[in-house]
Amino acid sequence: MTPEERFLAKISPEPNTGCWLWSAGTIPSGYGVFGVNKKLVIATIWAYEHFNEPRNGLFVLHKCDTPACVNPDHLFLGTHRDNMDDMHRKGRENYFGRKGPAKTYRGGRSKMSNKAA
Ligand SMILES: [Zn+2]
Repeated sequence: MTPEERFLAKISPEPNTGCWLWSAGTIPSGYGVFGVNKKLVIATIWAYEHFNEPRNGLFVLHKCDTPACVNPDHLFLGTHRDNMDDMHRKGRENYFGRKGPAKTYRGGRSKMSNKAA
């Protein structure tokens, strides 16, 4: 079984939002963990790098506000600052108020040289 097959066996698709909800182990913040090459990795990070591209030290953030979601289409890269902004912004939003994934992609910023780690 390839890592991708094992990964896909651990998700349960959410028909309304399109989220891939992680059904295996999670860490306390709600992010899934995935064992690959005898190491545990954060499932969203693995999904992003496997299906999209290397994250180059940036944070993998959710467009859909669902920490358990590992759908690579719902993930985007941001800096540590973006991560904080995102959490604060989402903390003020009604978690169940959205009809689907956010459509705005908050790319555009050119401050990528500020290493987030
Ligand atoms: Zn999602």
